[in-house]
Amino acid sequence: MRLSVGLLPPPSIMSAFDSLPKAELADDGGRPLEAQLLVTADPALSIAQAVASGYAVMPAGGLTSAIGAFAYSKDSVGEFKGVIAVRPKQAPEPELAPPGTPLEGLKTHQIAIDPATATVSAGAGLTFSQVNAVLGHVVGPAARVLVDLTSIGSAMVGGVVASGSMGPLRLRPSASLQGVALAAGGSESEILTGDEIFRAEGMQGWTGLVTAARLRYFETPLNEFGLVLPVQSGDTDALGDFLAYLFPWTRVEVPESGSTLVGSVDEATIVNGVELVTRASLEQFIAHAGDDSLKAKAQNLLQSCDYAGADWLACITGWSDHAVDDVLAMLLDEETETIGGVMIDFGVGFSSGSEMDAFRAIREGAPDLARTRARVAPPGLLKPWTTSSDVNLICPEKDTTPLANALASYQTYREAIAALAAEFQGKVDVEMSVYGHLNPHGLDPHHRAILMAKPENKDDLAQAAALVGEHKKSLMRDLLRVAKGFGASINGGEKGAPSLVDLLRALGGEAALPDNLKADLARARSAVQKAPRAFSFRAPKELL
Ligand SMILES: Cc1cc2nc3c(=O)[nH]c(=O)nc-3n(C[C@H](O)[C@H](O)[C@H](O)COP(=O)(O)OP(=O)(O)OC[C@H]3O[C@@H](n4cnc5c(N)ncnc54)[C@H](O)[C@@H]3O)c2cc1C
Repeated sequence: MRLSVGLLPPPSIMSAFDSLPKAELADDGGRPLEAQLLVTADPALSIAQAVASGYAVMPAGGLTSAIGAFAYSKDSVGEFKGVIAVRPKQAPEPELAPPGTPLEGLKTHQIAIDPATATVSAGAGLTFSQVNAVLGHVVGPAARVLVDLTSIGSAMVGGVVASGSMGPLRLRPSASLQGVALAAGGSESEILTGDEIFRAEGMQGWTGLVTAARLRYFETPLNEFGLVLPVQSGDTDALGDFLAYLFPWTRVEVPESGSTLVGSVDEATIVNGVELVTRASLEQFIAHAGDDSLKAKAQNLLQSCDYAGADWLACITGWSDHAVDDVLAMLLDEETETIGGVMIDFGVGFSSGSEMDAFRAIREGAPDLARTRARVAPPGLLKPWTTSSDVNLICPEKDTTPLANALASYQTYREAIAALAAEFQGKVDVEMSVYGHLNPHGLDPHHRAILMAKPENKDDLAQAAALVGEHKKSLMRDLLRVAKGFGASINGGEKGAPSLVDLLRALGGEAALPDNLKADLARARSAVQKAPRAFSFRAPKELL
């Protein structure tokens, strides 16, 4: 038996589970969750022992996920001795395993590269930044996996697969996943391939713990770039034109075979996303930033907004073999000297290295702040109430109409929440934080509403929360109408099964879902129903 961190004595001494340390996990109110923590490089064996001893298992990764990911009701664990949070062992430096090492034999901090098939197998405890760094050394500086969520430096391989997360590229891990090892109580991980991968991807650990994953890797253009352009959120037609203009640039076709990814317009340039940063979030970032140089860069971007009279920044990011100025020149429409109608005069460019790191820190700073604010009750106030939108709208062709209409739906939602903030002024603080993805192939600008009130305004808080919930439902219904009416589609959100359930609740039942989402829901339900109760105890009732 190999239990690398030595937290457990031999399996015969099952009481060892009782003496594990407490897991420092919290529910969405910041209250500690009752669970004990087991960190291991061999999760399959530990899980088999825990399940055999009558414990429920809650997989834990980098803990970067959305609010409420670890919440469970006490009733759902009554039949178990307790909950063990199993976290794959991490390592500052991944350990290289020989090519051909079977997925089920890979430890959580190990990585195996197979150049013959252009695949990389990674243990669940690594981050995709670590995976890319090893690919860079072993295969070449431009080799990478197509997992680009903006938390790739802190989220773990297992957590990313389990949450089915998508970054700026708007590609789920399954776009290049070849296999997943899933431990659910048997003595070895089960290997999932093909459609079976969906028993793990996006299932939040409700069906088992992902111990390792194998993905295809690709060579992309070498240099990273970022172009930040101020835009006006209320001019949804102009914004729609801008995104439609970028449509061909943002089309990324994952090659069936071979390992080189080329751009659809210029082979050596791949636009991997259009991300949104708001003026308001820049102000928040500046108010809280500890680092003076980041603060100065954020102030520079704020100035761009001011000069252009804009309230949003569209951040075009990608990889290119050209310099950032040449990319800018290529993106420019010669006739109008704009990028899809957006003037470049107040734009700011970022290129590889520390500049991109600074850019990312600013882009992620505000959403992080919003998530933190939404989690914990400030002194003297009730626990904040929060809800966020997560609907990924896919346009099949270059067409302004669906994009402009979807953006108008979000604008209506923002206006409704602003009106609500005015109505409840003095009783409930209503904030709206907007961030996320403006990729025409996956439009998903997250709108997080956060409501706070003093204990004496508890009823007002409940009333305001119910009204926000109604407005969010209208938003979701509107987005569905846009998709149906203008040839676009919705493939859920970036959080796999939880986003699907959120949509289902907002639309008032399964019957209202489009056929593709009904099929996804049936698949998720079947996976949860087949899973051992020791894992599925956390799943929402709609999937049981
Ligand atoms: C700054 C920042 C940027 C972000 N950007 C994005 C983004 O661009 N796109 C996006 O989609 N999300 C984003 N997120 C959210 C989050 O990073 C992702 O959802 C990520 O995939 C979660 O991975 P994790 O390892 O942190 O999982 P955790 O937060 O630890 O867990 C998430 C869920 O998965 C389960 N789980 C964890 N590990 C495993 C495992 N090995 N096997 C089975 N189940 C497991 C947990 O039980 C939990 O239900 C961002 C978050 C932050 C803080």
